[in-house]
Amino acid sequence: MSGQSETTARTDTLELGDVTVTRVVEWSGRIRTVGEMVPDSPEEVREEHRAELVPDFWDPRDDAYLCAVQSWIIRSEGRVIVVDTGAGNDRDRPQVPPFDHLSTPFLDNLARAGVRPEDVDVVVNTHVHYDHVGWNTRLDDGAWVPTFPRATYLIPRVDREYFDPANEHLRPAARSDADRLRREGNRLVFADSVQPILDSGRAVLWEDRHRIDADLELRAAPGHTPGSSALWLRSGTERAVFVGDMLHSPVQLWTPHANSCFCEDPRQSRETRRRVLAEAADTRALVLPAHFPGRGAARVKHEGDRFEIREWAPLDRLTAS
Ligand SMILES: [Zn+2]
Repeated sequence: MSGQSETTARTDTLELGDVTVTRVVEWSGRIRTVGEMVPDSPEEVREEHRAELVPDFWDPRDDAYLCAVQSWIIRSEGRVIVVDTGAGNDRDRPQVPPFDHLSTPFLDNLARAGVRPEDVDVVVNTHVHYDHVGWNTRLDDGAWVPTFPRATYLIPRVDREYFDPANEHLRPAARSDADRLRREGNRLVFADSVQPILDSGRAVLWEDRHRIDADLELRAAPGHTPGSSALWLRSGTERAVFVGDMLHSPVQLWTPHANSCFCEDPRQSRETRRRVLAEAADTRALVLPAHFPGRGAARVKHEGDRFEIREWAPLDRLTAS
């Protein structure tokens, strides 16, 4: 992973039927290269789509992958829902140096979007990776406590089981130092960002489908992790889908078979990506990934066996470089 990072304090809001969606950024910067992040997407595809990728998503000079870590705040039926909680402050993250002992003004950014921790009713973790569960908790006098003291935390049961260190013995032995570091990292993430929520009694573990309200439904979207999920929004004639890490880069629209290097089940990840993007294209749903800088989200359309951008969301551009 290479260095440069910056924190930003921008918020942007969309109206989708009766629901509003606000982007709150925790971190943006360069992580690895696009070639490393999405290894099965050939370089020619980046060249072919240079105009759509530069400058927001790709730096062609060194192939840098430009990344945002952000939360989507949904206001629906009088409630406040936070989708994914970023990487969090103050954590030991030896497996991801740019996020080790991070110190960002995320809660100030959230306040600028009009949300205090006690205002949050529901937290959605699309999956249990470090950059989606971080602000589940905060450090309080040496103890990890829920950041959102009134919220119900919706955590996919499959990921809760899969990443629980108590179930480590169910997996094959680590084969390399990188494997060992990743597993140690997972243990730390579970201990500081998941276990305290389970212990607080604020977690609701769900499987397959979970309805949040009349407009919002979580559905399993496995592959990236076994418990990965997508949150579908339907209000009036508007549709949207929060896809978490099903997409890391727009190159995966043009090469939907191409997984990120963090996708745990390659076959299932591809199937899920094609299925969810096809439904989003058919219903003109706005697709909101977790890590897109730039306009942050887009409507997509079919183009043979791949997808194209129909239009970007009317959000302010976030420049990650
Ligand atoms: Zn992620």
